[in-house]
Amino acid sequence: MTSLWLASPRDSTTDAFDDGARYDEIIVGAGLTGLVTALLFARAGKKVAVLEARFIGAGATGNTSAKLSLLQGSQLQKIKQHTYQAITQAYVDGNRAAQQWLLEYAQSRDVAVQFRDAISYAATPEGTQTVEREFRVARSVGLDVQLRAELDLPFATYGAVVLPNQAQFDPMAVLEALATDIRKLGGVIVDRTRVTGVTAGPRSRPAVVRTGRGELFADHVHLTTGTPILDRGLYFAKLKPLRSYVTSYAVPGAIPEAMYLSVDAPSRSLRTAPSGDGTQGSGKHASDAHGGSEELLVGGNGHGVGREPSTQLRVDDLREWTERYFPGARLTHSWSAQDYETPHRVPFVGYLPRGRGAIYLATGYDKWGMTNGVVAALTLVSDILGDSPPWATAMHHRATLPAALGSGLGAGAAVGWWAAKGWAGALLGPRVDDLPRPGERQGLIGRSGIRPVGVSTVNSTTCAVSGVCPHLGGVLTWNAAETSWDCPLHGSRFSATGELLEGPAVRDLAQK
Ligand SMILES: Cc1cc2nc3c(=O)[nH]c(=O)nc-3n(C[C@H](O)[C@H](O)[C@H](O)COP(=O)(O)OP(=O)(O)OC[C@H]3O[C@@H](n4cnc5c(N)ncnc54)[C@H](O)[C@@H]3O)c2cc1C
Repeated sequence: MTSLWLASPRDSTTDAFDDGARYDEIIVGAGLTGLVTALLFARAGKKVAVLEARFIGAGATGNTSAKLSLLQGSQLQKIKQHTYQAITQAYVDGNRAAQQWLLEYAQSRDVAVQFRDAISYAATPEGTQTVEREFRVARSVGLDVQLRAELDLPFATYGAVVLPNQAQFDPMAVLEALATDIRKLGGVIVDRTRVTGVTAGPRSRPAVVRTGRGELFADHVHLTTGTPILDRGLYFAKLKPLRSYVTSYAVPGAIPEAMYLSVDAPSRSLRTAPSGDGTQGSGKHASDAHGGSEELLVGGNGHGVGREPSTQLRVDDLREWTERYFPGARLTHSWSAQDYETPHRVPFVGYLPRGRGAIYLATGYDKWGMTNGVVAALTLVSDILGDSPPWATAMHHRATLPAALGSGLGAGAAVGWWAAKGWAGALLGPRVDDLPRPGERQGLIGRSGIRPVGVSTVNSTTCAVSGVCPHLGGVLTWNAAETSWDCPLHGSRFSATGELLEGPAVRDLAQK
């Protein structure tokens, strides 16, 4: 499934891999976090290299909804519930600084941004209280929100909180501008280069960055890889990987102009996109208030990675919902992506424990990385160059509350349950030789001796790969919507042919 943003041909420039080269800062991962971090260091005169396993925007950033908003569904009350007022305030202050940075950057580089109201609405009567709570918390941290009883939408709503003048954009247009600017300042961006390990210690200065193509050296290494790829600090065990879906449509009638997000389940996220954003030639579109034609994006139906038995049903459900409320809507693109939730709902940003002050990480944006990715970049750069903003200092010194501990323990127990379920199912299941040939876009787990094997058919080609995640041994599950093998433990994902797509794993699946 290709996103609206990745559908048009994009610049595929890559720089040469200079085996053995030394840099001041190596950034691992070319999503929004990595590229903003790289640009800020390059502007400070540092020698910078970005190493990307796949291509620029391949992760969540090229597959996001790209709303740039300080009102984030019911996020503020969740943060307040898992932390405390000072941290909620620091979160909003950081997000505000990041939003400002991104808007100024987009303006300076002529990247189109549409300013829209952000609206968190209740889709059920029970959701009204959540809306009212979000209003109160948002007000308490200085956001100029308003309550609204009714919305002009074709489906029922039960109250909403509105923050005017937020923004939306095409994330790939921002990444391309960032990449150009990094290169202009002498930075290099090398794609198709997976980092497999980093060594940093008293006898290893500078840090050694190992890749499939050789080694590089750096004073500091920044893991901006979605979930961190190193197990030090056990961040993979503290993060909940959550997959979610987005669909885009050409709609014959009027479409809502604002950026909407329901506060209750199943989640529904709506925004528009100018039809030039990856959709040229896709047909008849609604017109926006400014006379341009627009597509409607509808997202939602999220779940834990690898834990949903029928991912395609989630996509079909979004489509049916949209066609019901926007008659004549014609699907142009559908895609999915994942992001990571922390136990306290605020991102992890800073140095990696046992990284000897040379390895840094940024993760856990809970689907709000358009601001939080920039927050992370501003934080990482100020951690190293000095002059940390007060909100970054407050975030670094936050205490962990019992609510966050409880949430972390619950997530850990769920991982244990999925590990046991996967292995029990595989060991009690059929031998791989006894499996029927999977139908098109289907995958099945069998066993060879006691080793789980995944067999799938995609484009009429049947492949057998190891059914065990090379990260920590979870038994993989089939994701029909993306035709991938997904790990229900920590969110690593692999293509049908075994190629690593994302997650904490750093190796492909073995062929069987
Ligand atoms: C469906 C969905 C909708 C969303 N909508 C919004 C929204 O409307 N607003 C908002 O604010 N946020 C939204 N988010 C969240 C936001 O998209 C992400 O938080 C953000 O894009 C994360 O950016 P990143 O740079 O940290 O990670 P990514 O964009 O995932 O980049 C990480 C990069 O690291 C690379 N990488 C991984 N491992 C290695 C390795 N070993 N070596 C080298 N490179 C590696 C990957 O290939 C990838 O390119 C959404 C998320 C999802 C899933």
